[in-house]
Amino acid sequence: MSKRDTPPTAHTGFWLGQKLLLSEAPRKAWAWFFATWLVLSLLAVGLMIGADIQRQQQHFKRVSFYLTRSVEARLKSCELVMFGFEDIIASDPDVRDTELRSYAQQAAKRYSFIYSMGFQQRIAHYQRPTFEYAQRDTFGPDFRIRDYQHDGHAGWLQSANWHTAPARESYIPFTMAEPALTQNARSAMGLDLLADTIVGPTVERALRSTDIEVTPLLRLSNDQSAIAYIHALYSPSPPSTSPIMRPEESIGIVTILLRIDGLINLHDEQSDLFDITLSRQEGASSQYDSAVYSRHALLSPSQLDLLLPRIERREQIATPYFPYELNISSQLRLHTIDRANLLLAILAAALPSYLILLIVTIRHNARKDREFADDSLYRTREHAMVTLQAISDAVITIDNQRMVQYLNPAAQRHLGTSEEQAIGHPLGEVFKLRYEFARRAVADPFIECLAKQQPRELEENSYLLCPDGEKLLIEGSVSPLFDRNRGLIGAVLAFRDTAPLRRRMLEALETSEARLKQHEYELARVTRITSMGEMASGIAHEINQPLSAIMSYCQASLSLLEEDDPNLELIVQAIQSAVNQADRAGKIVHRLREFVSKKTHQHTPVDVNHAISNVLALADYDLRQHEITVDYHPGSHLPLVYADTIQLEQVVLNLVRNAIDAMHGQSHPGCLFVETSFSARHVCIKVGDNGPGIGDDKIDNVFAPFFSTKNGGMGLGLTICQTIIESFGGHISTHNRSSGGAEFVVELPPLDTGTPPYIDTRE
Ligand code: ADP
Repeated sequence: MSKRDTPPTAHTGFWLGQKLLLSEAPRKAWAWFFATWLVLSLLAVGLMIGADIQRQQQHFKRVSFYLTRSVEARLKSCELVMFGFEDIIASDPDVRDTELRSYAQQAAKRYSFIYSMGFQQRIAHYQRPTFEYAQRDTFGPDFRIRDYQHDGHAGWLQSANWHTAPARESYIPFTMAEPALTQNARSAMGLDLLADTIVGPTVERALRSTDIEVTPLLRLSNDQSAIAYIHALYSPSPPSTSPIMRPEESIGIVTILLRIDGLINLHDEQSDLFDITLSRQEGASSQYDSAVYSRHALLSPSQLDLLLPRIERREQIATPYFPYELNISSQLRLHTIDRANLLLAILAAALPSYLILLIVTIRHNARKDREFADDSLYRTREHAMVTLQAISDAVITIDNQRMVQYLNPAAQRHLGTSEEQAIGHPLGEVFKLRYEFARRAVADPFIECLAKQQPRELEENSYLLCPDGEKLLIEGSVSPLFDRNRGLIGAVLAFRDTAPLRRRMLEALETSEARLKQHEYELARVTRITSMGEMASGIAHEINQPLSAIMSYCQASLSLLEEDDPNLELIVQAIQSAVNQADRAGKIVHRLREFVSKKTHQHTPVDVNHAISNVLALADYDLRQHEITVDYHPGSHLPLVYADTIQLEQVVLNLVRNAIDAMHGQSHPGCLFVETSFSARHVCIKVGDNGPGIGDDKIDNVFAPFFSTKNGGMGLGLTICQTIIESFGGHISTHNRSSGGAEFVVELPPLDTGTPPYIDTRE
């Protein structure tokens, strides 16, 4: 089976159905489809964004928590490192510096956020020269205890801002930073930490409190931000309980510099998204306290992301001496939503929208069908109502209890009642049915109709007893009325007054009779003419006698005149006798003409096909007698001809009779061919047969008077036909058909060719 022959499957049927339904979908359905799709898509996208935001929020919360705990853990580690460092300081001074260095290196290696650490001795003023001298071994001959003139920048990088420290009671010069600092950092060596504007207050607090104190944010020589842990060491240890005494008892401070970047370090992908700020918790005691460290997300948000809110979290660091808090924030972003899922959700939203499209279309179609059904019901009802109102027949509807439900105006007229008086009343009250000359009891047609559930004709002698006592002869029927489930709900009575019908029938009968009489008269004339042939034989005989007598009288007169003494008296007598005979012959001819022209011919427009139908009806008996079939081809849209219908019928009848005669007695079944047509400005009638045809020696003579090949034939039929046809301005001819038999062709001018009607002058 080829692919084209494959019958459509249920699958293709389904899609075809969908296609058909969609082609019928109204605009409203499409509007619903797109609106629903839009709403559902927005909903799906909104839900996805919502879910993603929730995910981002949870992630943010987790990261914030993790970061805070990491910072706390790092601070704790730093604290432990510091205590380890202090333990080494307390050890043997000979090996101390080496151990401190190695310890610091290890710690910095392990904890990347530790930048450097060191022990800075407290020097009394009297110790200053010795101290500065001793430090020159390490830091060069220019080493002095110095101050730095800060200009708002929390670093110590401007060499012009350095000054030798004035004389003070005690100093804590910056001399140790392990692992070894960069050259820049080394330039800060000798800074009196106790007198420094930025770190001094913290050092002061550390000396008094014995706790770890944390400096404001500092700027390292490599431009990184940092803070420093400061813890004082005392001798004796522990120091006195009075904070005022403690600075005097301190031997120095341990400093650990912590890189903020390392302290609040996040994984790479996290640092892409989070903004982190580190700021001092309490109110600032100096302008440097209020410094804030900020690290911005590496990935900047898109314009679209900015439509979403930022999420922010303030985290307290649960380390008592750490005075900073973390502020973590992040911009919610859209780019994290999976585009494939988004597309899938939008496509999935099309499915319920499509269902809505189908539902709306189906409902629309159903409503259209219902409207169409209502409309056609209304029209049917309207037709029925108007018909019932307009018809002359009376119609009454009754229910199963024979209560009147409806009656039309004709019924109201016949019953002499109105709708209000009749509806709801028993039928017997308004419709008094009686039977004329009833000899036996007649069954009630309504009861019978309802019982048998079949139509029932009213009896022939039914009449309606009118309220004025008059009898109204009626005819009609009762038909059962069914509901949709073929349940009987009543009956319909339709009846009419038979008086007008009878009157019309009588008139029709009279017209028909008159037409019959007219036809009989015409037929008589046709018969008269048909029998003219026979009469002509007698007339010829009659004419022959006077002609022979005239001949004899004339010959006798000639013989008498040839005599020497002609007897004039005898001659006059003979000529007189000849005149008498001629007069007699003239009268015979006159009688013949009078017989043929019985009446003045009436030329009227004639439908040729109609005339031929009449002839075939007249000849029907003869044709059937001779078992001749008729092959008739009436031409369509023939123009009328101007002729005498009866004479034209007479011509065609004569041709048909000749054909019947010609086919009589032959071995094969006879067939009469009749055809009418319009061609070459003539209406043409052809009458043919399948008889022997006309012999070549005879064909030129058939229209000649008294030419006949039949026994007892007069040979006048075709002559008369020719006379008649020519009197219509037409022409008749004959020829033999190629398939055998003769054919006569009559050509008549059509009415509209302008041929003047032939005026028959015969009387
Ligand atoms: P009649 O019928 O009295 O002979 P017509 O004038 O009607 O006179 O016919 C003349 C002759 O023409 C016929 O005798 C017949 O020989 C010939 N004729 C007429 N019609 C036919 C026909 N259909 N077939 C053969 N011959 C015909």
